[in-house]
Amino acid sequence: MTPLVDSFGRVHNNLRISVTDRCNIRCFYCMPADNVQFMAKEKLLAFEEIERFVRIVQPMGIDKLRLTGGEPLVRRDLSTLIAKLSRIEGIKDIGITTNGILLAEQAQDLYDAGLRRLNVSLDALSAEKFKQVTRREGYEKVIEGIHAAKAAGFDPIKINAVSIKGITEEEIVPFGHFARETGCEVRFIEYMPLDADAAWEREKVLFADEIIDTLTTGIRPLVPLANQDPRAPATDYEFDDGIGRIGFIASVSKPFCMSCNRFRLTADGKIRNCLFSLEETDIRTMLRDGGDDEGIRQAVRESIGAKKEGHEINMASFVQPERPMYSIGG
Ligand code: SAM
Ligand code: SF4
Repeated sequence: MTPLVDSFGRVHNNLRISVTDRCNIRCFYCMPADNVQFMAKEKLLAFEEIERFVRIVQPMGIDKLRLTGGEPLVRRDLSTLIAKLSRIEGIKDIGITTNGILLAEQAQDLYDAGLRRLNVSLDALSAEKFKQVTRREGYEKVIEGIHAAKAAGFDPIKINAVSIKGITEEEIVPFGHFARETGCEVRFIEYMPLDADAAWEREKVLFADEIIDTLTTGIRPLVPLANQDPRAPATDYEFDDGIGRIGFIASVSKPFCMSCNRFRLTADGKIRNCLFSLEETDIRTMLRDGGDDEGIRQAVRESIGAKKEGHEINMASFVQPERPMYSIGG
């Protein structure tokens, strides 16, 4: 079957699936503080619908999946979806991105269902700063979840920290030590204009270069890893004594759009060809109203065919998408 290639020659093999827009915390760079309008339950794709969609698109070359949200673990039977997806021939890699609050209770079931790759989002290494960012308690649960995931056998476990001026600076060196002590790679993600409050400003982004300087002075020099996948969004480094890995997702200061291989399925069944898309394609209606497999593949091809060259965060013409991160699926 013809691979999923856009008009710039980018081959798409990577699908990110949001399973819910609900979340048990309220990170200020993602969700509003309160009065969140969540999607009605009947609008969410059932696990069987997600599985059917993956079976339909896999032959176009989709071999990598990541489940996200909202908080994916609030769908407490997520391991049943992992088990369904890991049985699909041709799917080589399944990961999830989670805030880790419910991880301790689900880690073993997720591992047993076939999940191996885990990204845990954690922006601070103190309970106080955690609460400042998430507007909820839960720091200890996340740390407990990371330990439970290690004990269950997850490898790799990556820690995602959004890098924001005024928040992240004092976390950098502690995260460097955390990476060295736990073996988890810590990845700093530049704060992007996808917050529900639309309060993002370029001046609030703490750029990767500044973090590298702080780690070099505060711990020891970082060296880029050899043989990195050029299509991966993160640039990975290691401390020069070989202990501790740090990654950077520099979406704002060094966009990686030209090597993008990803598209997204939202929890309510819309295809988005980019995080920053202003348009979406409705797949849920096709899935529910008798759409045939080839029709669904054609809709996906058209969506990918219309993908823009890149996001326009750094241009005056940039328009922030209506959906914030929790509703798209990060
Ligand atoms: N709830 C899960 C979690 O937090 O890991 C999964 C969904 S969350 C939307 C996925 C990732 O997007 C998280 O690592 C989060 O930190 C990141 N994220 C959310 N809003 C962001 C923003 N405005 N800029 C950069 N990253 C953001
Ligand atoms: Fe929830 Fe993840 Fe958004 Fe934080 S980043 S509010 S954990 S969905």
